[in-house]
Amino acid sequence: MHPIARLDHRHVWHPFTQMRDWLQREPIVLVSGRGTVLKDIQGNAYLDANSSIWTNLHGHNHPHLNAALRRQLGQVAHTSALGFANAPASQLAAQLTKLASPRRTRTSNPGGPELSKAFFSDDGSTALEVALKLSYEFTRRTRGPRTKPRFLSLQGAYHGDTIGAVSLGHVPLFHRSFSGLLFKSDAVMAPYCYRCPFNQANPERADARSYRRCHWECVDQFESKLKQATHAKMPYSAFVFEPRIQGVAGMIAQPDGWLSRTTELARAHGALLVADEVMTGFGRTGTATHPFFASAQEGVQPDFLCLAKGLAGGYLPMAVTLTTQAIFDSFLGEYSEFKTFFHGHSFTGNPLAAATALASLELLTPVTARAQRRQLEVNLRDELAELWSLPAVGDIRQVGLIAGIELVRNWQTREPFNLAEQAGIRVCEAMARRGVLTRPIGNVIVLMPPYCTTRRQLRQMVSALRESIEDSLA
Ligand code: PMP
Repeated sequence: MHPIARLDHRHVWHPFTQMRDWLQREPIVLVSGRGTVLKDIQGNAYLDANSSIWTNLHGHNHPHLNAALRRQLGQVAHTSALGFANAPASQLAAQLTKLASPRRTRTSNPGGPELSKAFFSDDGSTALEVALKLSYEFTRRTRGPRTKPRFLSLQGAYHGDTIGAVSLGHVPLFHRSFSGLLFKSDAVMAPYCYRCPFNQANPERADARSYRRCHWECVDQFESKLKQATHAKMPYSAFVFEPRIQGVAGMIAQPDGWLSRTTELARAHGALLVADEVMTGFGRTGTATHPFFASAQEGVQPDFLCLAKGLAGGYLPMAVTLTTQAIFDSFLGEYSEFKTFFHGHSFTGNPLAAATALASLELLTPVTARAQRRQLEVNLRDELAELWSLPAVGDIRQVGLIAGIELVRNWQTREPFNLAEQAGIRVCEAMARRGVLTRPIGNVIVLMPPYCTTRRQLRQMVSALRESIEDSLA
């Protein structure tokens, strides 16, 4: 075993990992990268098919990002946002709030508020924590201090691993054991069309692989949940959602129109909208109608927009919670009123990360970059089509540049693999042996390549996936 791998085995505890299994094999030690390719310490090359856990946008070792980072490093690596401003964070806040503002030309925009304020933090979980605390406090300040703010999120929701974010989550496998630590939030049906109880596939029919038409029963359920809360005089403070596709829930793609319908209902019942775009932000869901944000693609203007992962191009941990003037104003007052938002982190608004984020936005914006993403989306769809013929592939869900391939024991009955069988893990290990790195979500294999990925590389990723499914699940 390589000495570095031995050190890892001896001392490092990996996230979301059964360490007994980890300790049985030599880990891949990654040492360098360029574009979509990563290299390990033995000199093996791999394609990064999940953009290093959904963070990397433009590829590794990008000259433009590297230069921005070096430039800022020549100035100063870190100064505190507690008491001081810095140039990259101020400029970044200005750019992000501009990008996230409603586009006045869109007729479908329900006229949500402008997001004019940016609160920086470190990762997706903390971006959600900030939205949670701000909406909690805003509710108490507007509805009265005796109000107990309540939150609504989706079945299967995952919004991070800090206690507030976990409280908003509904993934029993991850969250059950911490239930004693959490506050209660309500879950409402998510539009998991492939396993929709209102829309069962008929294995006898040729449409066993397709979704049948529905009557938006999930939206009806959503509405009755809101009505119940309003009727009980305990309306929700906020509806927290991932727009267009739920990631950790299993890459659950929402049918067109679901997001605009549910958010309109939530607003009508007085709930603030918290869009968790930690995964979907910065063009991941494609370029259709809006190049950056998934909520905007359905004309939804939230009160909070949470961004992380790709914010600094996948280089450095940085997150932001964008919000409105109204929320901001509710924290203003005389010093002695103590209406201050008492929250913050040591590395809030870090200049290195902010400078890299500004450079990343420069790469994302040009028309040619959008065209490249559009082409990648088409190519991904074309390449994935060949997987439908595999009996272990139950469903393929793609939203923009995000794809989830759901593995099943029987495509006709949609019978899932038992999680303990580790079908997803086995397939991903087989893919790694073929030079493609990704990580499953249960029985769902994720393909989320960096934007610089070539057609040839995409083909390699999908071929490796096909062969690995054939080998591991035959
Ligand atoms: N929200 C979503 C939608 C996510 O996918 C994640 C991470 N996978 C998070 C929040 C938490 O982000 P982080 O891991 O950066 O804390």
